Amino acid sequence: MQDNHLPTAELQALDAAHHMHPFTFGAELAEKGARIITRAKGVWLTDSEGEEILDAMAGLWCVNVGYGREELAEVAARQMKQLPFYNTFFQTSHVPAIMLAKKLAEIAPGDLNHVFFNGSGSDSNDTNLRMVRHYWDLKGQPERFNVISRWNGYHGSTMGGGSLGGMKGIHAQGGLPIPGIHHIDQPDWWSEGGDMSPEDFGLARAQQLEEKILELGPETVAAFIAEPVQGAGGVIVPPATYWPEIQRIVKKYDILLIVDEVITGFGRTGNWFGSETMGITPDIMTCAKGITSGYIPLGASIVSDKIAKVIDEGDEFAHGYTYSGHPVACAVALENIRLLEEEGIVERAGKEIAPYLKEKWEALVDHPLVGEARIVGLMGSIALTPNKATRAKFKAPGGTVGYICRERCFANNLVMRHVGDRMIISPPLTITKAEVDILIERARKSLDETLERINAEGLNA
Ligand SMILES: *Cc1c(COP(=O)(O)O)cnc(C)c1O
Repeated sequence: MQDNHLPTAELQALDAAHHMHPFTFGAELAEKGARIITRAKGVWLTDSEGEEILDAMAGLWCVNVGYGREELAEVAARQMKQLPFYNTFFQTSHVPAIMLAKKLAEIAPGDLNHVFFNGSGSDSNDTNLRMVRHYWDLKGQPERFNVISRWNGYHGSTMGGGSLGGMKGIHAQGGLPIPGIHHIDQPDWWSEGGDMSPEDFGLARAQQLEEKILELGPETVAAFIAEPVQGAGGVIVPPATYWPEIQRIVKKYDILLIVDEVITGFGRTGNWFGSETMGITPDIMTCAKGITSGYIPLGASIVSDKIAKVIDEGDEFAHGYTYSGHPVACAVALENIRLLEEEGIVERAGKEIAPYLKEKWEALVDHPLVGEARIVGLMGSIALTPNKATRAKFKAPGGTVGYICRERCFANNLVMRHVGDRMIISPPLTITKAEVDILIERARKSLDETLERINAEGLNA
């Protein structure tokens, strides 16, 4: 069914005239015209021309329950009618924020029992940055100001989030990183591991944290922040040796561990949280995206007993957003979690779909362009390479071949993103086995066409 809307070309022209897109080269898009998405159901998007597209990215890693869940729309409408907004600043609270905080405390691991609500993943990490520094200040250790993070990590694009992240393209615009943030290398064995075994490389990369702590002085370090599995960086799955060593180091130097679960939370890795999958014990967990399955914006910092006690007993924490704990967003998140739980979506994704997808995904390494295929739960990546044995990069600038592949996927009605020359997927957790088959079939077709194209253009070296 098509909505009654302006013709696609007109919509594209208006979009180009007035709409500034995030992370987009505006002039290039204006030339080409955006693809206009008009509706969606399950894992399927429909565009303004009536084409049906398999969304293997769940929007932007967020539509965990799939599109078109009426329950979420109904809860939002009901909450809007009853109490569309009230703040939580001035000694007031409301039922959705209270019940969601309680629920998050229940499902979050360990002693993460306290929730500070935010509007997004970026501002959740801004909250975390201020909170850990304030924590140490209250503990009488104000010199613990430095926060360590990783190159090619992603923690959002605000001043704080973008600084914590290690994307050089983000740092290059707007005077980032802000002071007191230090980056170590990522555990990307495929690209950077050289002749080392993945295990040795994982250890070496984790030990960079200890080296950085000693360089800065352990008494000056507040926290380390990382994603359990890097998402926007290209679905980089760390070697098995990495996280245990990180855990050992943060414990040794009494440094807080902020685990950014914006993508990995709410079932993405096959468990409720990536921390469970990777065996991590966080002091603070960043959540957003899947917390509402993207139906409405919401972020949350889930904080340990230890930190919450110090923050609560200190002076006023001079931080918050108008929409911290927005009642409509909290109501939708609660309903989303209910669906994930009661319909067994997380469990089914982890136990049934993940192993099925893993088998098919990893089999893509038999394609001549694919060097490695990695997947954890329902987030996966493949590395494109001209030479599997040497893990070589293409001579064309990084991302050239990835972009061609992405364009072939899009033409074949599959949304698969590229990060440099890695292709990544993160489909709704509700994807069926039959839909996994379609995903893989379209991915293979797109890889074949990419190979043809780069052979024709002499880029395959
Ligand atoms: C998307 C993302 C963010 C930023 O979230 P926004 O809601 O876009 O601000 C932060 N951390 C990670 C790991 C993300 O994937």
